[in-house]
Amino acid sequence: MNPFDFVYETRPARVVFRPGAALTATAEEARHLGLRRLLVLSGERGADTARAVADSLGPACAGLHTGARMHVPVEVADRGVEAARAAGADGCVAVGGGSAIGLGKAIALRTGLPLIAVPSTYAGSEMTPVWGLTEHGAKRTGRDPVVLPRSVVYDPELTLSLPVPLSVTSGINALAHAVEALYAPDGSPLVALMAEEGVRAMAGALPEVAAAPDSVPARSRALYGAWLCGACLGATTMGLHHKLCHVLGGTFGLPHAETHTVVLPYVLAFNAVAVPEAAATVARALGADDAPGALQELAGCLGAPRSLAELGLKEADLAVAAGQVAGQAYANPRPVTTGDALRVLRAAYEGREVRERG
Ligand code: NAD
Repeated sequence: MNPFDFVYETRPARVVFRPGAALTATAEEARHLGLRRLLVLSGERGADTARAVADSLGPACAGLHTGARMHVPVEVADRGVEAARAAGADGCVAVGGGSAIGLGKAIALRTGLPLIAVPSTYAGSEMTPVWGLTEHGAKRTGRDPVVLPRSVVYDPELTLSLPVPLSVTSGINALAHAVEALYAPDGSPLVALMAEEGVRAMAGALPEVAAAPDSVPARSRALYGAWLCGACLGATTMGLHHKLCHVLGGTFGLPHAETHTVVLPYVLAFNAVAVPEAAATVARALGADDAPGALQELAGCLGAPRSLAELGLKEADLAVAAGQVAGQAYANPRPVTTGDALRVLRAAYEGREVRERG
C-alpha cells in the first residue's frame, strides 16, 4: 500500500477543549453559530448536567428534552423532532454520550437543525457525520454532513462522573476507531498521526483514570485521546471490528463499549498478518511488542470484561453472527470467510488469551 496516495477531507467542526467548558463555553459557541433558541438534549441519567448546561444558555435555551436512548429507536427520534418543532428551536445542544449525540444527529437529519455536542464519554460520535437509527430491532446507519456537529465542547470535568468500568470500556471503544483507521482503505498520513497519538494518549490515561477517577489531568488526557480517535472514525471507513460489534449490538443487544473492548484484540490479531505496519504502529503507541496482547492486557488489568459469554452472548449465536458478518460487504484488509468470522467470534466468546494464536 502506497502511503502517499490518499484523499483527506477536513471536517469543518470547531472544537473548544477546556475544563469547565460545558458551562462556560456552550453559550459562546451558540452565539458564534448565530443560534438563539436551542433545545438541550440528554438521556434521563444525564438530565442534571444537561439542565445546568441549559441554564448556562440563559435566554438562548428553548427547552430541555431528556428522551435520548441507546441506539436511537425511531420513536425516540420522532419525539425529539416533535420537541424541537414545539420549542421553535433553531438548533440543538446534545449533552452526554453517543446516545444523546445520536439523538441530536437524528433530529439534524430530519430537520437540518445545527448541532452543538458536549460529549461526556469517549465514544467519539461528535467527530463523525455518521447517524444511526434503530427500527424493528435493526440498526441502520448512514453518513450525511448535515449531522456532523458544528461545534464540539470538550469538558474533561463532565467526564469525572463516568464510572471507572465505563471509562475503561468507553476508552477502549475509542482505541478501536484508531486501530481500524490505521488499516482503512481511505486512511492517510495525517489520520495515521492522529490514530497513533490517540492510542498513546488514551492507553496512557486509562490506568491513571482508573487509579484516580477525579483527576482532571488524567481525564483531560483521556478526552484528548477520545477526540483524536473520534476524528479517525469520522475520516475513514471502519472494517471487521466495527462490523462484528455492529452485529453483536444490533442483533444480539450486547452493550456497545464492552463489546468493543472484548472483540478488539482478536480482530487486530486476525488482521495483523495483512497489515503488519498498522499493528506495529499500535504496538509503538502502547509501548509494547505485541499490539493485540497488549490491548488485552490493558483491558484485563483495568478489570474490563473478557469474553462475549460474560456479556450474555449464547454459543448458538456465534454461527448466526458469523453468517451475518460474512454476508455483508465492508472494508477489511484481510478477506473474511464465514469460518474466519466464526473463529474470531469463538475466541472472543471464550475470552481466550490472544497471545495463544498461531
Ligand atoms: P451512552 O451515551 O449510551 O452512555 C452510556 C451510559 O453512560 C448511559 O447510561 C449514560 O447515561 C451514562 N453516562 C454518559 N456519560 C456519563 C458521565 N459523564 N457520567 C456518568 N454517566 C454517564 O453510550 P456511549 O458508549 O457514549 O455511546 C454508545 C452509542 O453511541 C451507541 O448507540 C453507538 O452506536 C453510538 N455511537 C455512534 C457513533 C457515530 O459515529 N455515529 C460513534 C460512537 C458511538
